[in-house]
Amino acid sequence: MSIVAGPIVARRELLIGATSLIALAAAGRAFADGGVPPLGLDEVKTLQAKVRGAVIPRQSEFYEPWRQAMIWQTQKFPRHPDLIVQAESVEDVVAAVNHARAHGRRITTRAGGHSFCGCFMRDDGLLVDVSRLQTIEIDAARGEAIVGPGVIGRRLNEELAAHGLAFPSAHCGMVPISGFLLGGGLGWNGNAWGGMSTYNILEVEIVTADGQVRTASETENPDLFWAVRGGGPGLFGVVTRFRLRCHPRPKNIRSHTFIFAFTDFALAAAAMEEIGPKLPKTVELIGVITAAPPGLDKACAVPGCDQVFILQSVAFVDSEAEALALMKPMAEHPIAKKAIATTLNQAETFETLYYANEVPFPQRRYAVDNIYADRLDKAIEVIVRAMPHAPSRVTAPVLLYKGRPALGDGACTTTGNFYVSCYAQWDDPAADKANKDWLIAMYEELQPFAVGNYINELNQEGRIHRIRECYTPEAWAKLGALRRTWDPGRIFHTFYGLEPTLPTLAKG
Ligand SMILES: Cc1cc2nc3c(=O)[nH]c(=O)nc-3n(C[C@H](O)[C@H](O)[C@H](O)COP(=O)(O)OP(=O)(O)OC[C@H]3O[C@@H](n4cnc5c(N)ncnc54)[C@H](O)[C@@H]3O)c2cc1C
Repeated sequence: MSIVAGPIVARRELLIGATSLIALAAAGRAFADGGVPPLGLDEVKTLQAKVRGAVIPRQSEFYEPWRQAMIWQTQKFPRHPDLIVQAESVEDVVAAVNHARAHGRRITTRAGGHSFCGCFMRDDGLLVDVSRLQTIEIDAARGEAIVGPGVIGRRLNEELAAHGLAFPSAHCGMVPISGFLLGGGLGWNGNAWGGMSTYNILEVEIVTADGQVRTASETENPDLFWAVRGGGPGLFGVVTRFRLRCHPRPKNIRSHTFIFAFTDFALAAAAMEEIGPKLPKTVELIGVITAAPPGLDKACAVPGCDQVFILQSVAFVDSEAEALALMKPMAEHPIAKKAIATTLNQAETFETLYYANEVPFPQRRYAVDNIYADRLDKAIEVIVRAMPHAPSRVTAPVLLYKGRPALGDGACTTTGNFYVSCYAQWDDPAADKANKDWLIAMYEELQPFAVGNYINELNQEGRIHRIRECYTPEAWAKLGALRRTWDPGRIFHTFYGLEPTLPTLAKG
């Protein structure tokens, strides 16, 4: 099956008011002496004439609300592309890429804007928003779907349900498949469904730096396809469609949940090391430290401690009996007796799982980081020491059992027995520095116990020096070499934070 271009939709108006035109002309003069070509009205008009979607230059009065709306969280990173282009079709993406190359501007791509460090939001160049590319075509007989980059996991799984299929989307339903899959993708039932969700990509339609629409798969442009499966924010192309392998939908999803006082976190987390290896791949084991739910906030023995550790196993199988049998290592572990609240054999759906994961991760200000670790003992010690000093009580570390899944052939190469992440979250802008510094300190303490890191949730703002640890040395070198081949003019922004090492952008 080959991916074909999407439909053309209605033309948009040029989003520049009269006052903005004057500002735009002035800005063109002001930037004329700089290294980046000035953005003039002619350039904006030229691009808008070729693009069906909206083109919003920095000088437009619509620009700032539009820019802020690109970012999912409430922290609106102070970085400003020259132009935002909202693509309505693959042709719009081609026009944007050709324009960037012709005018010596760089490009980043944005689908859902969920990147916790806002890596798609860069100074200068074009921000190409592909969120409106939302096709879903399901081929039930083949167990495949062709999906646009703007489709969120919730909608994909809702539509697949009608065909008895499912896909390992992100744990929160509103995360689009695009950035999630390109960076690797820790999805629901991921250990059973590909190890990392990216290994369910069978083919993509991708616009490369030369403005060509290409297909990349194991047999067509295989090196480009290798980069697609894990290159993440370092990818040098815009993916406009994915062809995905889907899976028979489990007829029964069941969970056991234990809630522990934070004072028992170390014991309960240590129990994950015993429980995890006894579970089959179809049972996911995940733990989160979070603010105690109402009624449990006095559970800790330590004054001022009102957090809990929620440990959950989720079985993706076909019958209740099978789920209960497979989750026995969790239900029968002695740690269960220490739980302050227990829910056994809960019937779940993708929707209940999404909802339960969206509640602790609402739209706030975020800084997020992670390591992969083969053992938890040292990591637990660091988290126990750090959490009482967390500036925000809603900050949530997560432990996910991965069991070192065998990965396919792609840029996504790092894994470990456990994924150890932390979602620092807060509301007050004045608390940005305290929360970010705390997270960096904790992760620099955790890093010696790491066997790798995961690019999609790495603190690319605060720990630039760890970006390459998201890849094996061989994969890092291969990704760099492929970037030089596929994007010799460097029109695509590379990993956030690593840009200064690139040569000056050449126009052409
Ligand atoms: C609430 C929440 C829950 C999350 N849960 C999970 C989870 O369960 N598992 C997990 O693995 N991750 C999770 N994440 C992290 C998520 O995988 C990343 O934030 C991912 O980047 C989100 O995808 P996006 O399409 O919104 O990317 P964006 O933020 O829009 O873009 C990020 C980067 O991806 C690249 N990119 C995106 N689309 C394209 C494209 N079409 N072509 C080329 N490059 C592109 C660009 O380089 C861009 O800079 C979560 C994030 C949030 C906010």
